[in-house]
Amino acid sequence: MAASRRPLLAANWKQNLLWQDIENYCEELRAELPEYFADSAEPPIDLLVCPPLCYLGLLGALLEDSHVLSGSQLVSTMGGGAYTGEVSAQMVADLGCDYVIVGHSERRGLFGDSEESITQRLSQAIEQDLVPILCIGEDLETRRSGRAGEYCRQQLEAQRGIISGIEPGELVLAYEPIWAIGTGENASREDAQEMAALVRSWFREHVSAEAAEAMPVLYGGSVKPANIADYFSQPDIDGALIGGASLEAASMAQMLRACMAGKES
Ligand code: PEP
Repeated sequence: MAASRRPLLAANWKQNLLWQDIENYCEELRAELPEYFADSAEPPIDLLVCPPLCYLGLLGALLEDSHVLSGSQLVSTMGGGAYTGEVSAQMVADLGCDYVIVGHSERRGLFGDSEESITQRLSQAIEQDLVPILCIGEDLETRRSGRAGEYCRQQLEAQRGIISGIEPGELVLAYEPIWAIGTGENASREDAQEMAALVRSWFREHVSAEAAEAMPVLYGGSVKPANIADYFSQPDIDGALIGGASLEAASMAQMLRACMAGKES
């Protein structure tokens, strides 16, 4: 990864863990990663936790005195008002969040998140100074037919209007091939690097060189302690978005340490 971008490991808990689990997780994290809880300089890798929306407040309170960041898995397409069941970007920001995941393939595939609603969520997030983690990635058929690059470029093109207005450094891109999410079938480091480079070059061409260089690109899809260093060593990959392997604090700490060791070598 480039020295100018801050690396980021993001835990996406999805619809997992309850109140007591989260208390235990944070306690364990404190024991495993004391440098993230010390009253000292920021550690060299950002650590972000995205719990279910209803536990954002709890997580914020438990991590108040730490360098661990919190993010939301979702924000509403709408601002505040009569939208039963929705949670606005303003509320998420009010809870102290820094990031929001937008366009995750589970939202696209299971909950009908369209490119139009993704644009609206991005817009709501940006208005509240939340950094969006925009997820893109192809399905298995597309990968096998050799059209993964074209597919991801189209996903970026669909959001070009809004992402070209985002300040350099205020957007994170996550390349997450759908066939690798939660399957144990991770992309090879070469393929992940190729797609990360493609994303960056799309930004260079369609947004600006500055935005392309400032934007952290994450790989996501069955990342675990045994393979994270493979991705982290790639020049265009600045970290990971992690689902299953982020559900245990010890595993998250192991992945951070593997990346820190890679940074030092
Ligand atoms: C994800 O949900 O973004 C993800 C990459 O999940 P997993 O790590 O479980 O494949």
